[in-house]
Amino acid sequence: MAQEDHFKNLVAHCKEYGYVFQSSEIYDGLSAVYDYGQYGVELKNNIKKYWWDSMVLLHENIVGIDSAIFMHPTIWKASGHVDAFNDPLIDNKDSKKRYRADVLIEDHIAKIETKIDKEVKKAGKRFGDSFDEKIFMETNPRVLANREKIDRLTSRYSKALNDNNLDEIKQIIVDNEIVCPVSGTRNWTDVRQFNLMFSTEMGSTADGSMKIFLRPETAQGIFVNFLNVQKSGRMKLPFGIAQIGKAFRNEIVARQFIFRMREFEQMEMQFFVKPGTELEWFKHWKDIRMKWHQSLGFGEENYRFHDHEKLSHYANAATDIEFKFPFGFKEVEGIHSRTDFDLTQHQKYSGKKMQYFDPETSESYVPFVVETSIGVDRMFLQIISAAYTQEEIRKSNGTTDSRVVLRLPPALAPVKLAVLPLVKKDGLPEISRKIIDDLKFDFNCQYDEKDSIGKRYRRQDAIGTPFCITIDHQTTEDNTVTIRYRDTMEQERVAIDKLKETISEKVDMRRLLRQ
Ligand code: ATP
Repeated sequence: MAQEDHFKNLVAHCKEYGYVFQSSEIYDGLSAVYDYGQYGVELKNNIKKYWWDSMVLLHENIVGIDSAIFMHPTIWKASGHVDAFNDPLIDNKDSKKRYRADVLIEDHIAKIETKIDKEVKKAGKRFGDSFDEKIFMETNPRVLANREKIDRLTSRYSKALNDNNLDEIKQIIVDNEIVCPVSGTRNWTDVRQFNLMFSTEMGSTADGSMKIFLRPETAQGIFVNFLNVQKSGRMKLPFGIAQIGKAFRNEIVARQFIFRMREFEQMEMQFFVKPGTELEWFKHWKDIRMKWHQSLGFGEENYRFHDHEKLSHYANAATDIEFKFPFGFKEVEGIHSRTDFDLTQHQKYSGKKMQYFDPETSESYVPFVVETSIGVDRMFLQIISAAYTQEEIRKSNGTTDSRVVLRLPPALAPVKLAVLPLVKKDGLPEISRKIIDDLKFDFNCQYDEKDSIGKRYRRQDAIGTPFCITIDHQTTEDNTVTIRYRDTMEQERVAIDKLKETISEKVDMRRLLRQ
């Protein structure tokens, strides 16, 4: 199935099965804002727990906070967001659609990369076992020409971004004959800057009110509390502060479902280190964070690092962890070495010292910071798009059937088990209820007695429930039930009093964390 159809089906599935709804849908929706439904919220909470525990529970030197969304407006002046939190935007005069100029160029580069991939796949098929991909990449004229095109374009584009040269960015779009995906024309306006922060008024009267911003990242709440946490927690460098919370960005191009939203959630950790050690820590956190992603079992080949072409004004190293979404490799998480930029700026704007007294060297200095910053919603999309599978299954009578299954890692699945009485009589519902009453303290359980057992299995597959427990007449005789496994559809007979142990072992988040 085409990737595009696959993605459309996934979006429809998220709505149909209570994962994600368009915000304000009955009023025709609010663009790039989404609500999470009854299963979505459970998955989201599990993602947050996986992240929080891996940071705060497993690291003695990382603590969490929860800072307010509203902050003093000078914070955003100090952080650079008032002056420099801009995206370059461009409009197509025919379709009247607005785009981020940098995204148009990056998509164009990705298209050339796809051409190279296709060339390699074609040659692989042609040459079979004797195919040497490395030599092919180094010698094939078409691949070399496309590679050179990418290199030339990337260096021109990163220079234009670094110089903030909007005319040059437009010229790159023109020279590369990039067309509007909607109208197919090259009738572009000039490139302009657009600030992404939302603002509102705080205070009741017009004269006494103050313009404040909705935070575009959670990091600043951590920086301004650096000394509070360090002193009250008697923290010694290196140490980290973690936070999960909402962030808001007035994104120009909101697309690809929950990939780019105007209201979203971030999980950020700022790690404060001695100046001069930051690049070692940067490498350390790159490794740890990649492992965290890969532990979910979606295939190592679906992740890669992408080093930034353009470093932000505050960074001396930066990389993204990218995941292969149905629409290509895209950023899920950023890891940035932010130097002492933020603390120094807050020191300057607030007039308060933001320094750490190092008891080992008896010196005071502003620590350097390495941050890991990931979007909850993007992580959600990563998981759900990797888990969503449409498959043909062969039945025991030789016919085929199809099913949609969410192959969610059991530790993250919203519902861990469904208890299904085979029939609605003969005491089977009562036994089912008793099992749920016993297990509901440990797992999110669901009871379902409606429709045939096959239909009930399909419903649970569609929401990603890893285990279905079926209660049948044999249960009344020997206190055993069948467990049906979501991924393999295999069934196993177990004693009721072994259920908790069997399921716990498989859904325990500690298994993920230990990896
Ligand atoms: P992008 O280049 O995609 O706009 P960014 O580099 O601006 O992202 P950061 O500022 O580094 O992103 O934010 C850290 C993380 O927050 C991102 O890796 C992403 O997971 C998440 N994030 C950022 N913007 C959004 C958004 N509009 N919607 C959903 N998640 C977002």
